[in-house]
Amino acid sequence: MAVVVPEVTLSSSDGLAIPVIGMGTMSSPPVGPEITKDAIIEAIMAGYRHFDTAFVYRTEQPLGEAIAEALRLGLVKSRDELYISSKLWCSFGEKGLILPAINMSLRNLQLDYLDMYLIHWPLKLSEEVRQMPAKKEHISPLDIKSVWEAMEECKSLGLTKGIGVSNFTCKQLEELLSTAKIPPAVNQVEMNPLWQQKKLREFCKARGIQVTAYSPLGAFNTKWGDNRILECYVLEEIAKAKGKTTAQISLRWLYEQEVSSVAKSFNKERMKQNLDIFDWSLTEEESNKISQLPQRKGITFASIFGPHDWLLQLDAED
Ligand code: NAP
Repeated sequence: MAVVVPEVTLSSSDGLAIPVIGMGTMSSPPVGPEITKDAIIEAIMAGYRHFDTAFVYRTEQPLGEAIAEALRLGLVKSRDELYISSKLWCSFGEKGLILPAINMSLRNLQLDYLDMYLIHWPLKLSEEVRQMPAKKEHISPLDIKSVWEAMEECKSLGLTKGIGVSNFTCKQLEELLSTAKIPPAVNQVEMNPLWQQKKLREFCKARGIQVTAYSPLGAFNTKWGDNRILECYVLEEIAKAKGKTTAQISLRWLYEQEVSSVAKSFNKERMKQNLDIFDWSLTEEESNKISQLPQRKGITFASIFGPHDWLLQLDAED
């Protein structure tokens, strides 16, 4: 039987609700579109309704094909049953490029609208950047005010139900909020028991911004992640005592922190396991042990874009 994933209603998005666990679609190493499409169909059968993609992942097309196939097969009755999130890549981080960028994502996805469109990173990359890390002269700060105005236009035109950001610090959110007419509904950031984001979460909660956790399993076995969540001794001990897996302990802890998560698994058993977290809970003692774990950021601006001075400074901000 498919799991029914709980939802949280988002602010400033006309009653839109986000399923608290979504399926990530970025694979490492990258896999072919057929594998991505088949995994998404499998995920819909398991109960996933929230899918996270981005222009830069090259998974918009297979996600679109999986949605079309799921509708043909009757796995979902209508597109409205799904929550689809995509992201504006940094090369399009300029007012005049944003409408064309969302329209390109919609064409890739074969959709009329997104549920959520996020600014992927608060950075602008020049057009010639083809691979990372990028040269210092090809990266610049985003003009948050004008870019956000164009994001607001995407929502006003009905191209997306909600708009939000990703990888924004408190300071960047403050700058955005100081001129925004529509506040961001979501900030998607790295979060897991070993990078708990306490300050950012409090900041977002006070302003009605939903935090979505990416790399909730520490991006195990990927180019950008490691084994520090799935092989964390404290989490393993809790898992053993409860007859759960370490992955489930991490995802349950995130759920109990009232954040939504996007976890990626293209494996049929593991994707089901990751949804099986809603009919049990952590004890106070277990939660306390997790809250005391030493903290270390996994994904940094510098590790993705290059070790340039001002990016290292951004990495030091919450
Ligand atoms: P993740 O979800 O923490 O970890 C994914 C890895 O864990 C995969 O190698 C997966 O392999 C494995 N895995 C999944 N469930 C497992 C389980 N129950 N037991 C053991 N291994 C398991 O990392 P992520 O991919 O970095 O994050 C998830 C999604 O967040 C991405 O796909 C993407 O959509 C989004 N994301 C966004 C940003 C951003 O900048 N906004 C950055 C990174 C990620 P199998 O597939 O083989 O199970």
